[in-house]
Amino acid sequence: MTDILRIDAHVHSSPFDDIKYRGSGAAYVRRMRKAGIHAVALLAPGEACRKAVGKFGDFVIPVPMYYLNRLPREDLRGDIERQLDWGCRAIKFTAPLHPYSHEIYWPLYQLLVDRGALAVFHTGYLWFGGTEPQIPPIEITHMRGAHVDAVARRFPTLRILMSHFSNPWWEEAWKVMWNRPNVYADMSGHTAIFRSMTMWAETFAPDGRLMEDALSKLVFASDESYLHTGEHKFGEWVDFYQRLLDRINAPERIRKLVWAGNAKKLYGIR
Ligand SMILES: [Zn+2]
Repeated sequence: MTDILRIDAHVHSSPFDDIKYRGSGAAYVRRMRKAGIHAVALLAPGEACRKAVGKFGDFVIPVPMYYLNRLPREDLRGDIERQLDWGCRAIKFTAPLHPYSHEIYWPLYQLLVDRGALAVFHTGYLWFGGTEPQIPPIEITHMRGAHVDAVARRFPTLRILMSHFSNPWWEEAWKVMWNRPNVYADMSGHTAIFRSMTMWAETFAPDGRLMEDALSKLVFASDESYLHTGEHKFGEWVDFYQRLLDRINAPERIRKLVWAGNAKKLYGIR
C-alpha cells in the first residue's frame, strides 16, 4: 500500500465535536502514512477542524461542514467567511431544506467563487437512524446530482466535489461529472461498495471503452472515521477503488488523479 500516494477526500472524526486521539499527533500521522493514507479531508464543524489541524498538522485538510437545515441562513455567510479567513479552502454542505440549486443558497456559492474555495456537496441519500420524527424531514431528492448540475450552470467557475456519487442516482452523478468541467465526484459512503463491480465498470468503461472524461474526475474517498485510536476501515475502500481501476485497466496517470491528484487540485494542496 505504501508506494501509492493517497488522499482520503472525505472523512469524519468521532464524535464530530471532539478529537478522540489521545497519543502523539505526529506518531499517528506516521502510522497512517505508512498504512497508505498521506492526508485526509476532515468534514466536521469548524472548531473540530481547527483542533484537528492543531494536533495532526498537514495530515488534516480542514473542511467545515454545514447542516443547511440548522443554522439560520443569515448567520451562515459570516460563519463561512470566518472559516475561510483562518485558512480553510473548502466548505461542505448537507441536509438542505430546499434543493441545492435554490437561489436561497446562491450567496453562499458566490462567496466560495469569490474566495476560490471548493464546494463539497453531500449528494443523494443521507443516513437517518433515529426513531424520533425528523421535523421537517430531510428530502433526499434535494441533494440529487441534478441540483448540483443546476448549481454548476449558475456558477460555472465554482469548483465542486459531489460526495457519495448521488446515491442512488448514480447515473445522474456520472452524467454531471462527465459534462460539467468543474464537477468532480467520489463514491464514498456505505452503499457504492455494495453494488456490483460490473455496474461500476460499465459506468466508467461501457463495453470496455474507457470514458476518460468522467474517470479522470473521480476522487478517492471513504467517508470513514479517522483520528481515533480504534480500528480504521479505509482498507475496504482502497480495495474497492483498486478493483475498479484494475477491472477497467485505468492508465497510471488517471490512477494518480483518482488516488490523490484530483484531491490535491480541489483542496489546493501543494
Ligand atoms: Zn460523510
